Amino acid sequence: MDIGNIIYTQDIPAERPWSHVIRKGQTLRIIDSEGQQAVDALLYNTVDPAERYSAQDTLREQGSAYIVLGTPLISNMGRVMARITADTCGRHDTSAGCCSCESNAVRFGEETRYQHACRENFILELSKHGLTKRDIVANLNFFMEVPIEPSGDFTVLDGLSSPGNYVDITMEMDVLFVISNCPQINNPCNGFNPTPIRVEVRET
Ligand SMILES: [Zn+2]
Repeated sequence: MDIGNIIYTQDIPAERPWSHVIRKGQTLRIIDSEGQQAVDALLYNTVDPAERYSAQDTLREQGSAYIVLGTPLISNMGRVMARITADTCGRHDTSAGCCSCESNAVRFGEETRYQHACRENFILELSKHGLTKRDIVANLNFFMEVPIEPSGDFTVLDGLSSPGNYVDITMEMDVLFVISNCPQINNPCNGFNPTPIRVEVRET
């Protein structure tokens, strides 16, 4: 399959946010460079950012609980924003949300309140585009392992991704794609050791 020419590439350091406008038809590849690294993500329509990724609509439309090869990423207005077009990991989450100072304090103790968290990354990165914390919605967690048991229970387990695993997301509209390279060190989603990731944009 022709996966096109790379027109943009960027290494995102451990714990840092990133954003980029990716045009309709272009493909974002997220590479888990060292493995076991959760990548939190949000998508906004560049024309009207009130239209944004909706975890609820995506799961309802698909009728199953995980983000997998072929999953259409649905907006809060019911439209397909992008689609998963390649995946060498096999498990991505959109149920468990992103980490925040507040949730860290509740889950892991008051002494973790001042650790850096994805919500703070999102606030910082969204501010570059005129968006605020009010614009943060339930997000995607690429490379995050959150199995859902028959009972309905779920918990964050060790990441399954190996060094170099990647996921491709092909845009079906112009999308502001926002990433937090998760800095969490209190649960195993990053192997207790946040690491760099790489992003590439391809034009097909
Ligand atoms: Zn996080």
